[in-house]
Amino acid sequence: MTPPSPRHCLVTGANRGLGLEFVRQLLDRGDRVVATCRQPGRANALNQLTGEYPGRLHVLPLDVAEPKSQAELVRELPLVLGDDARLDLLVNNAGVLHSGERFGKVAAATLDDSLRTNATGPFLLTQSLAPLLADGGKVANLSSELGSIAGKDAFRTPSYSISKAALNMATVLLARALAERGIVVVALHPGWVQTDMGGSGAEVAPEDSAAALLRVIDRAGDGDSGRFLDRHGAPLPW
Ligand code: NAP
Repeated sequence: MTPPSPRHCLVTGANRGLGLEFVRQLLDRGDRVVATCRQPGRANALNQLTGEYPGRLHVLPLDVAEPKSQAELVRELPLVLGDDARLDLLVNNAGVLHSGERFGKVAAATLDDSLRTNATGPFLLTQSLAPLLADGGKVANLSSELGSIAGKDAFRTPSYSISKAALNMATVLLARALAERGIVVVALHPGWVQTDMGGSGAEVAPEDSAAALLRVIDRAGDGDSGRFLDRHGAPLPW
């Protein structure tokens, strides 16, 4: 069930791409948003939105791959939300795709960075934020069909694919851990989206993808927790 507005939402990697679009649409529908990014001082689009939605958007620093940065966010969040407020929605959106990897040349540092940003980062962040999540709240993990083990037919984007498959497992584990509080956790594939990551030749505009994903998140109930869904709400093979 979707709680009545205004909801409190947190989006990671919110300075550009899909993250920025999530923030725009959540603000537009009346929610209160904590938008996190690595360098708030350089997040021009976000900082402009802060002026357009006074008191409803807070921009905080977060590098999802850094446990220290996560700990600082967890400390700071109650000051921004208010002591009694809880997060109704956490969007683990930040992600990285290192392109150009070839078999025989995959570097440990690239694999490590991908895992920390795309899998262990969102897992640990959700674990740390769990006490601040509202009962009945939702966690959306931005996964990818490239992380589908069943769909893998070529050696392509190995670090990204391994990390998104790990994020899918993290999604299921978090869904089980948070089930008793009615918190729904889903892994979502946004489509091939026109962002810096997807490129200009991609199929879907970020505003359309974010709008579709928000509809899927709104509709998601207890029975959907731990599922891997596309932006139309259809299940994807693990
Ligand atoms: P994008 O345009 O490349 O933006 C990525 C965002 O993640 C940026 O805000 C970036 O911040 C942030 N980020 C990267 N590493 C971070 C870190 N360590 N800590 C905090 N923020 C970090 O990508 P996008 O297309 O919007 O992708 C959003 C999500 O959708 C990702 O999880 C991606 O894997 C997933 N996805 C995208 C597509 C697609 O076609 N675009 C398809 C499937 C899944 P900086 O500006 O600081 O780098």
